[in-house]
Amino acid sequence: MRKRRVVILGATGSIGESARKVARDIPERMEIVGMSAHSNEEKLRAAGQEFPGARLAISSGPDGVDRLVELATMPEADLVLIAIVGTGGLRPALAAIEAGKDIAVASKEILVMAGEAVMGAAKRKGVKVLPVDSEHNAIFQCLDGRSQIGDGRSEMEDRVKEASRTPNSELRTSRSLSSDVRRLILTASGGPFRKWPVASLAGVTPDQALKHPTWNMGAKITIDSATLFNKGLEMIEARWLFDVEMARVEVIVHPQSIVHSMVEFIDSSVLAQLSTTDMCFPIQYAVTWPERVPNTLKSLDFAKLAKLEFEAPRLDDFPALNLARWAGETGGTLPAVLNAANEVAVAAFLRKHCGFTAIWQTVEQVMRQHRSIAGADLDAILAADAWARSRATELLF
Ligand code: NDP
Ligand code: MG
Repeated sequence: MRKRRVVILGATGSIGESARKVARDIPERMEIVGMSAHSNEEKLRAAGQEFPGARLAISSGPDGVDRLVELATMPEADLVLIAIVGTGGLRPALAAIEAGKDIAVASKEILVMAGEAVMGAAKRKGVKVLPVDSEHNAIFQCLDGRSQIGDGRSEMEDRVKEASRTPNSELRTSRSLSSDVRRLILTASGGPFRKWPVASLAGVTPDQALKHPTWNMGAKITIDSATLFNKGLEMIEARWLFDVEMARVEVIVHPQSIVHSMVEFIDSSVLAQLSTTDMCFPIQYAVTWPERVPNTLKSLDFAKLAKLEFEAPRLDDFPALNLARWAGETGGTLPAVLNAANEVAVAAFLRKHCGFTAIWQTVEQVMRQHRSIAGADLDAILAADAWARSRATELLF
């Protein structure tokens, strides 16, 4: 049994809090060696008292990113959990990979923006990118970890190689890593406005949008869940984490949030992962993978649940999913532009500076004004991100 020595970037947030809970629950498997907050010193200090051995850092201020990089590369750590809201975790994530550490990614924004760069670096260094987002962690569990290209060399690849040495093996032909996967099916709660008439969406207030029906999360992701941009970002996140084309990533609305996502294989069999709605599940699995260990989390009571429902998303009324599919299929700098414009628009909405529907209207306008650069390197992506932020700001303010 291996004990993971973990740095948590964004330890004072909703994911950070769940990660600290996991560390208290399975101390024999998870030791926190470093934690960051952006500005909430008081909460970070309190967390530090709970884990007295951990190094602490505040990331606001002029050299904030350098402090995150120092934490992410500290020799005592072997796993870095990126739980920072937005794209602020990109540089520390890349630094952790370069230092040979596995990363566990909650911050989907960094994979949407620079998925190719992150996964490419991880493959080159032979480190793992472990999904923490509940949907991707569910898919990771259904795939038994084998389709993840961040492994550098997957178990399937090994099995195919092994089989090709053995005559009469059914695995003799060389196959791509995910060739037995037909599609990934991401579940979405549908958000608080799932049943609202389209005409009333323009009048949605931040207070209404901040009430998520099933998950208790930070403000930005809660708004993203209400617009469905969260699921759109997750489609692109899945594309990179599992190295599949966008056409094989689908979304289904499942209001109970019990089935966290599914994988359909080429024989039409579907595997799903289920649990109560608690981010401690995916965080623990990312930490203990490939093993499972007992914990104090609640198990499901199926008789009480009674029913699990599924329905098609309202693509015309909530354009985020189509915008994300367009960005993901185009690739290049367009996903970074979608993500950056969305971040600016969500911040404006939370400050009551624009209406709810202005979020996707702004994102679409900024995307239409952008000419995507195919095969963009990190500098080009960062430039597109900065351009989209200023364009969205001009449109909104
Ligand atoms: P929160 O807003 O609750 O927490 C954000 C954390 O990041 C805090 O520790 C905050 O510090 C820190 N932070 C904020 N801005 C910066 C910055 N510019 N640079 C460095 N650190 C910063 O967010 P969540 O925990 O909800 O979400 C974190 C990430 O995880 C997001 O990308 C989200 O999409 C993803 N995620 C979250 C889920 C959830 O259940 N919450 C589920 C799946 C994914 P401080 O407290 O000092 O402000
Ligand atoms: Mg999710």
